[in-house]
Amino acid sequence: MQIHEFQAKNIFKEYGIPVPEGEIANNPQEAISVMEKLNSKVVVKAQVHSGGRGKVGGVKLAENSDDVFRFSSEMIGRKLVTNQTAGNGLPVNKVLIEKVTEIETELYLAVTMDYESGSPVVIISTEGGMEIETIAEKNPEKILKIFGDPLLELLPYKIRKLFEKLNIEPSLYKQFSSIILKVYKIFVEKDCSLIEINPLVISNEKFIALDAKISIEEDALFRQTKIQDLFDSTQIDPLELEALKYDLSYVKLYDGDVGCMVNGAGLAMATMDITVKAGTKPANFLDVGGSADQNKIKKAFEIITEDSDVKVILVNLFGGILRCDIAAQGIIEALKDKKEYPSIIGVFRGTNSEEAKRILTDSKIKLIFAEDLIDAAKKIKEIE
Ligand code: GDP
Ligand code: MN
Repeated sequence: MQIHEFQAKNIFKEYGIPVPEGEIANNPQEAISVMEKLNSKVVVKAQVHSGGRGKVGGVKLAENSDDVFRFSSEMIGRKLVTNQTAGNGLPVNKVLIEKVTEIETELYLAVTMDYESGSPVVIISTEGGMEIETIAEKNPEKILKIFGDPLLELLPYKIRKLFEKLNIEPSLYKQFSSIILKVYKIFVEKDCSLIEINPLVISNEKFIALDAKISIEEDALFRQTKIQDLFDSTQIDPLELEALKYDLSYVKLYDGDVGCMVNGAGLAMATMDITVKAGTKPANFLDVGGSADQNKIKKAFEIITEDSDVKVILVNLFGGILRCDIAAQGIIEALKDKKEYPSIIGVFRGTNSEEAKRILTDSKIKLIFAEDLIDAAKKIKEIE
């Protein structure tokens, strides 16, 4: 789960990581008040669950109160499209107003999980401000890493060795290591999957986190009750939000038109591959889960049919704990009151698959059966 920059910065403050002085504003008038209080030039920052805001007008420097009013009016109430957002962007409901920081040096700092070593990894680069993907591609030698240890945490000597490679004023070492240790502590204590500070800047011999991104591991949310309250449903696709309520793994994909309903993540991936092989593209990833019941299937099917991008639905079920006949009932329930719906291709195998086919044939639902995925691919091609 993601949280907003200002919320991440509040956590930084709690742990003693320096951030620019600032406050949140819900409207342009509030933005002016914050600027007056700060009594300085400010940066106006759109609060959306996405980076890359700077390049698309989501981060602006305001010299005076006219600027701050204009920039916040332009941002609040609009959607911001960045190179990281899908669909038509994310709505801006608040802006963060911060004192401008003079930048001398920009660094990139992140902590995430390294699945190979099974431990958290701290990633640092002197190419701050740039996207880490670009640095990784063009200057991979400029990305430095140090690994934590699940038992020993992060040993200070590793930070010192890394610092020596960075070409930073030695007198700043204490501050630097303190920030790294604190970010690492947040990562562990808040069950994060990612903390990213890009840029971490040096300004007047002080380190300041100019940007802040924190993602929390969803499987640990049950014990992060304070962070649960920061959930912002406006930053999620409405269909994804609906799926979340029913515990369905659903990801909307914006460039396809084949809706996929599958049980099991591996099977779902294979099904998406097959739709691409057939010369089309999946409109979503959807794993209803191994132990779905009729109601969950109904909900999943409704979510797919509500997606106006979907032209064909591919149902690929392998009956196990979820019996195919139960799934068939769920599909019938979902379509009961619908006069129109996309063409449906169904592959039913495993437990009670024959029963499922019989139930669906007896219902008035128009559904084309396919033997397997290859056959399904052929039939998608015929329809499209
Ligand atoms: P992002 O584009 O969504 O990652 O948003 P950032 O918070 O990283 O801001 C984008 C860029 O704006 C940063 O990389 C900085 O170069 C610049 N910026 C943000 N705040 C300040 C500031 O206080 N002073 C200066 N000089 N530049 C800033
Ligand atoms: Mn940034």
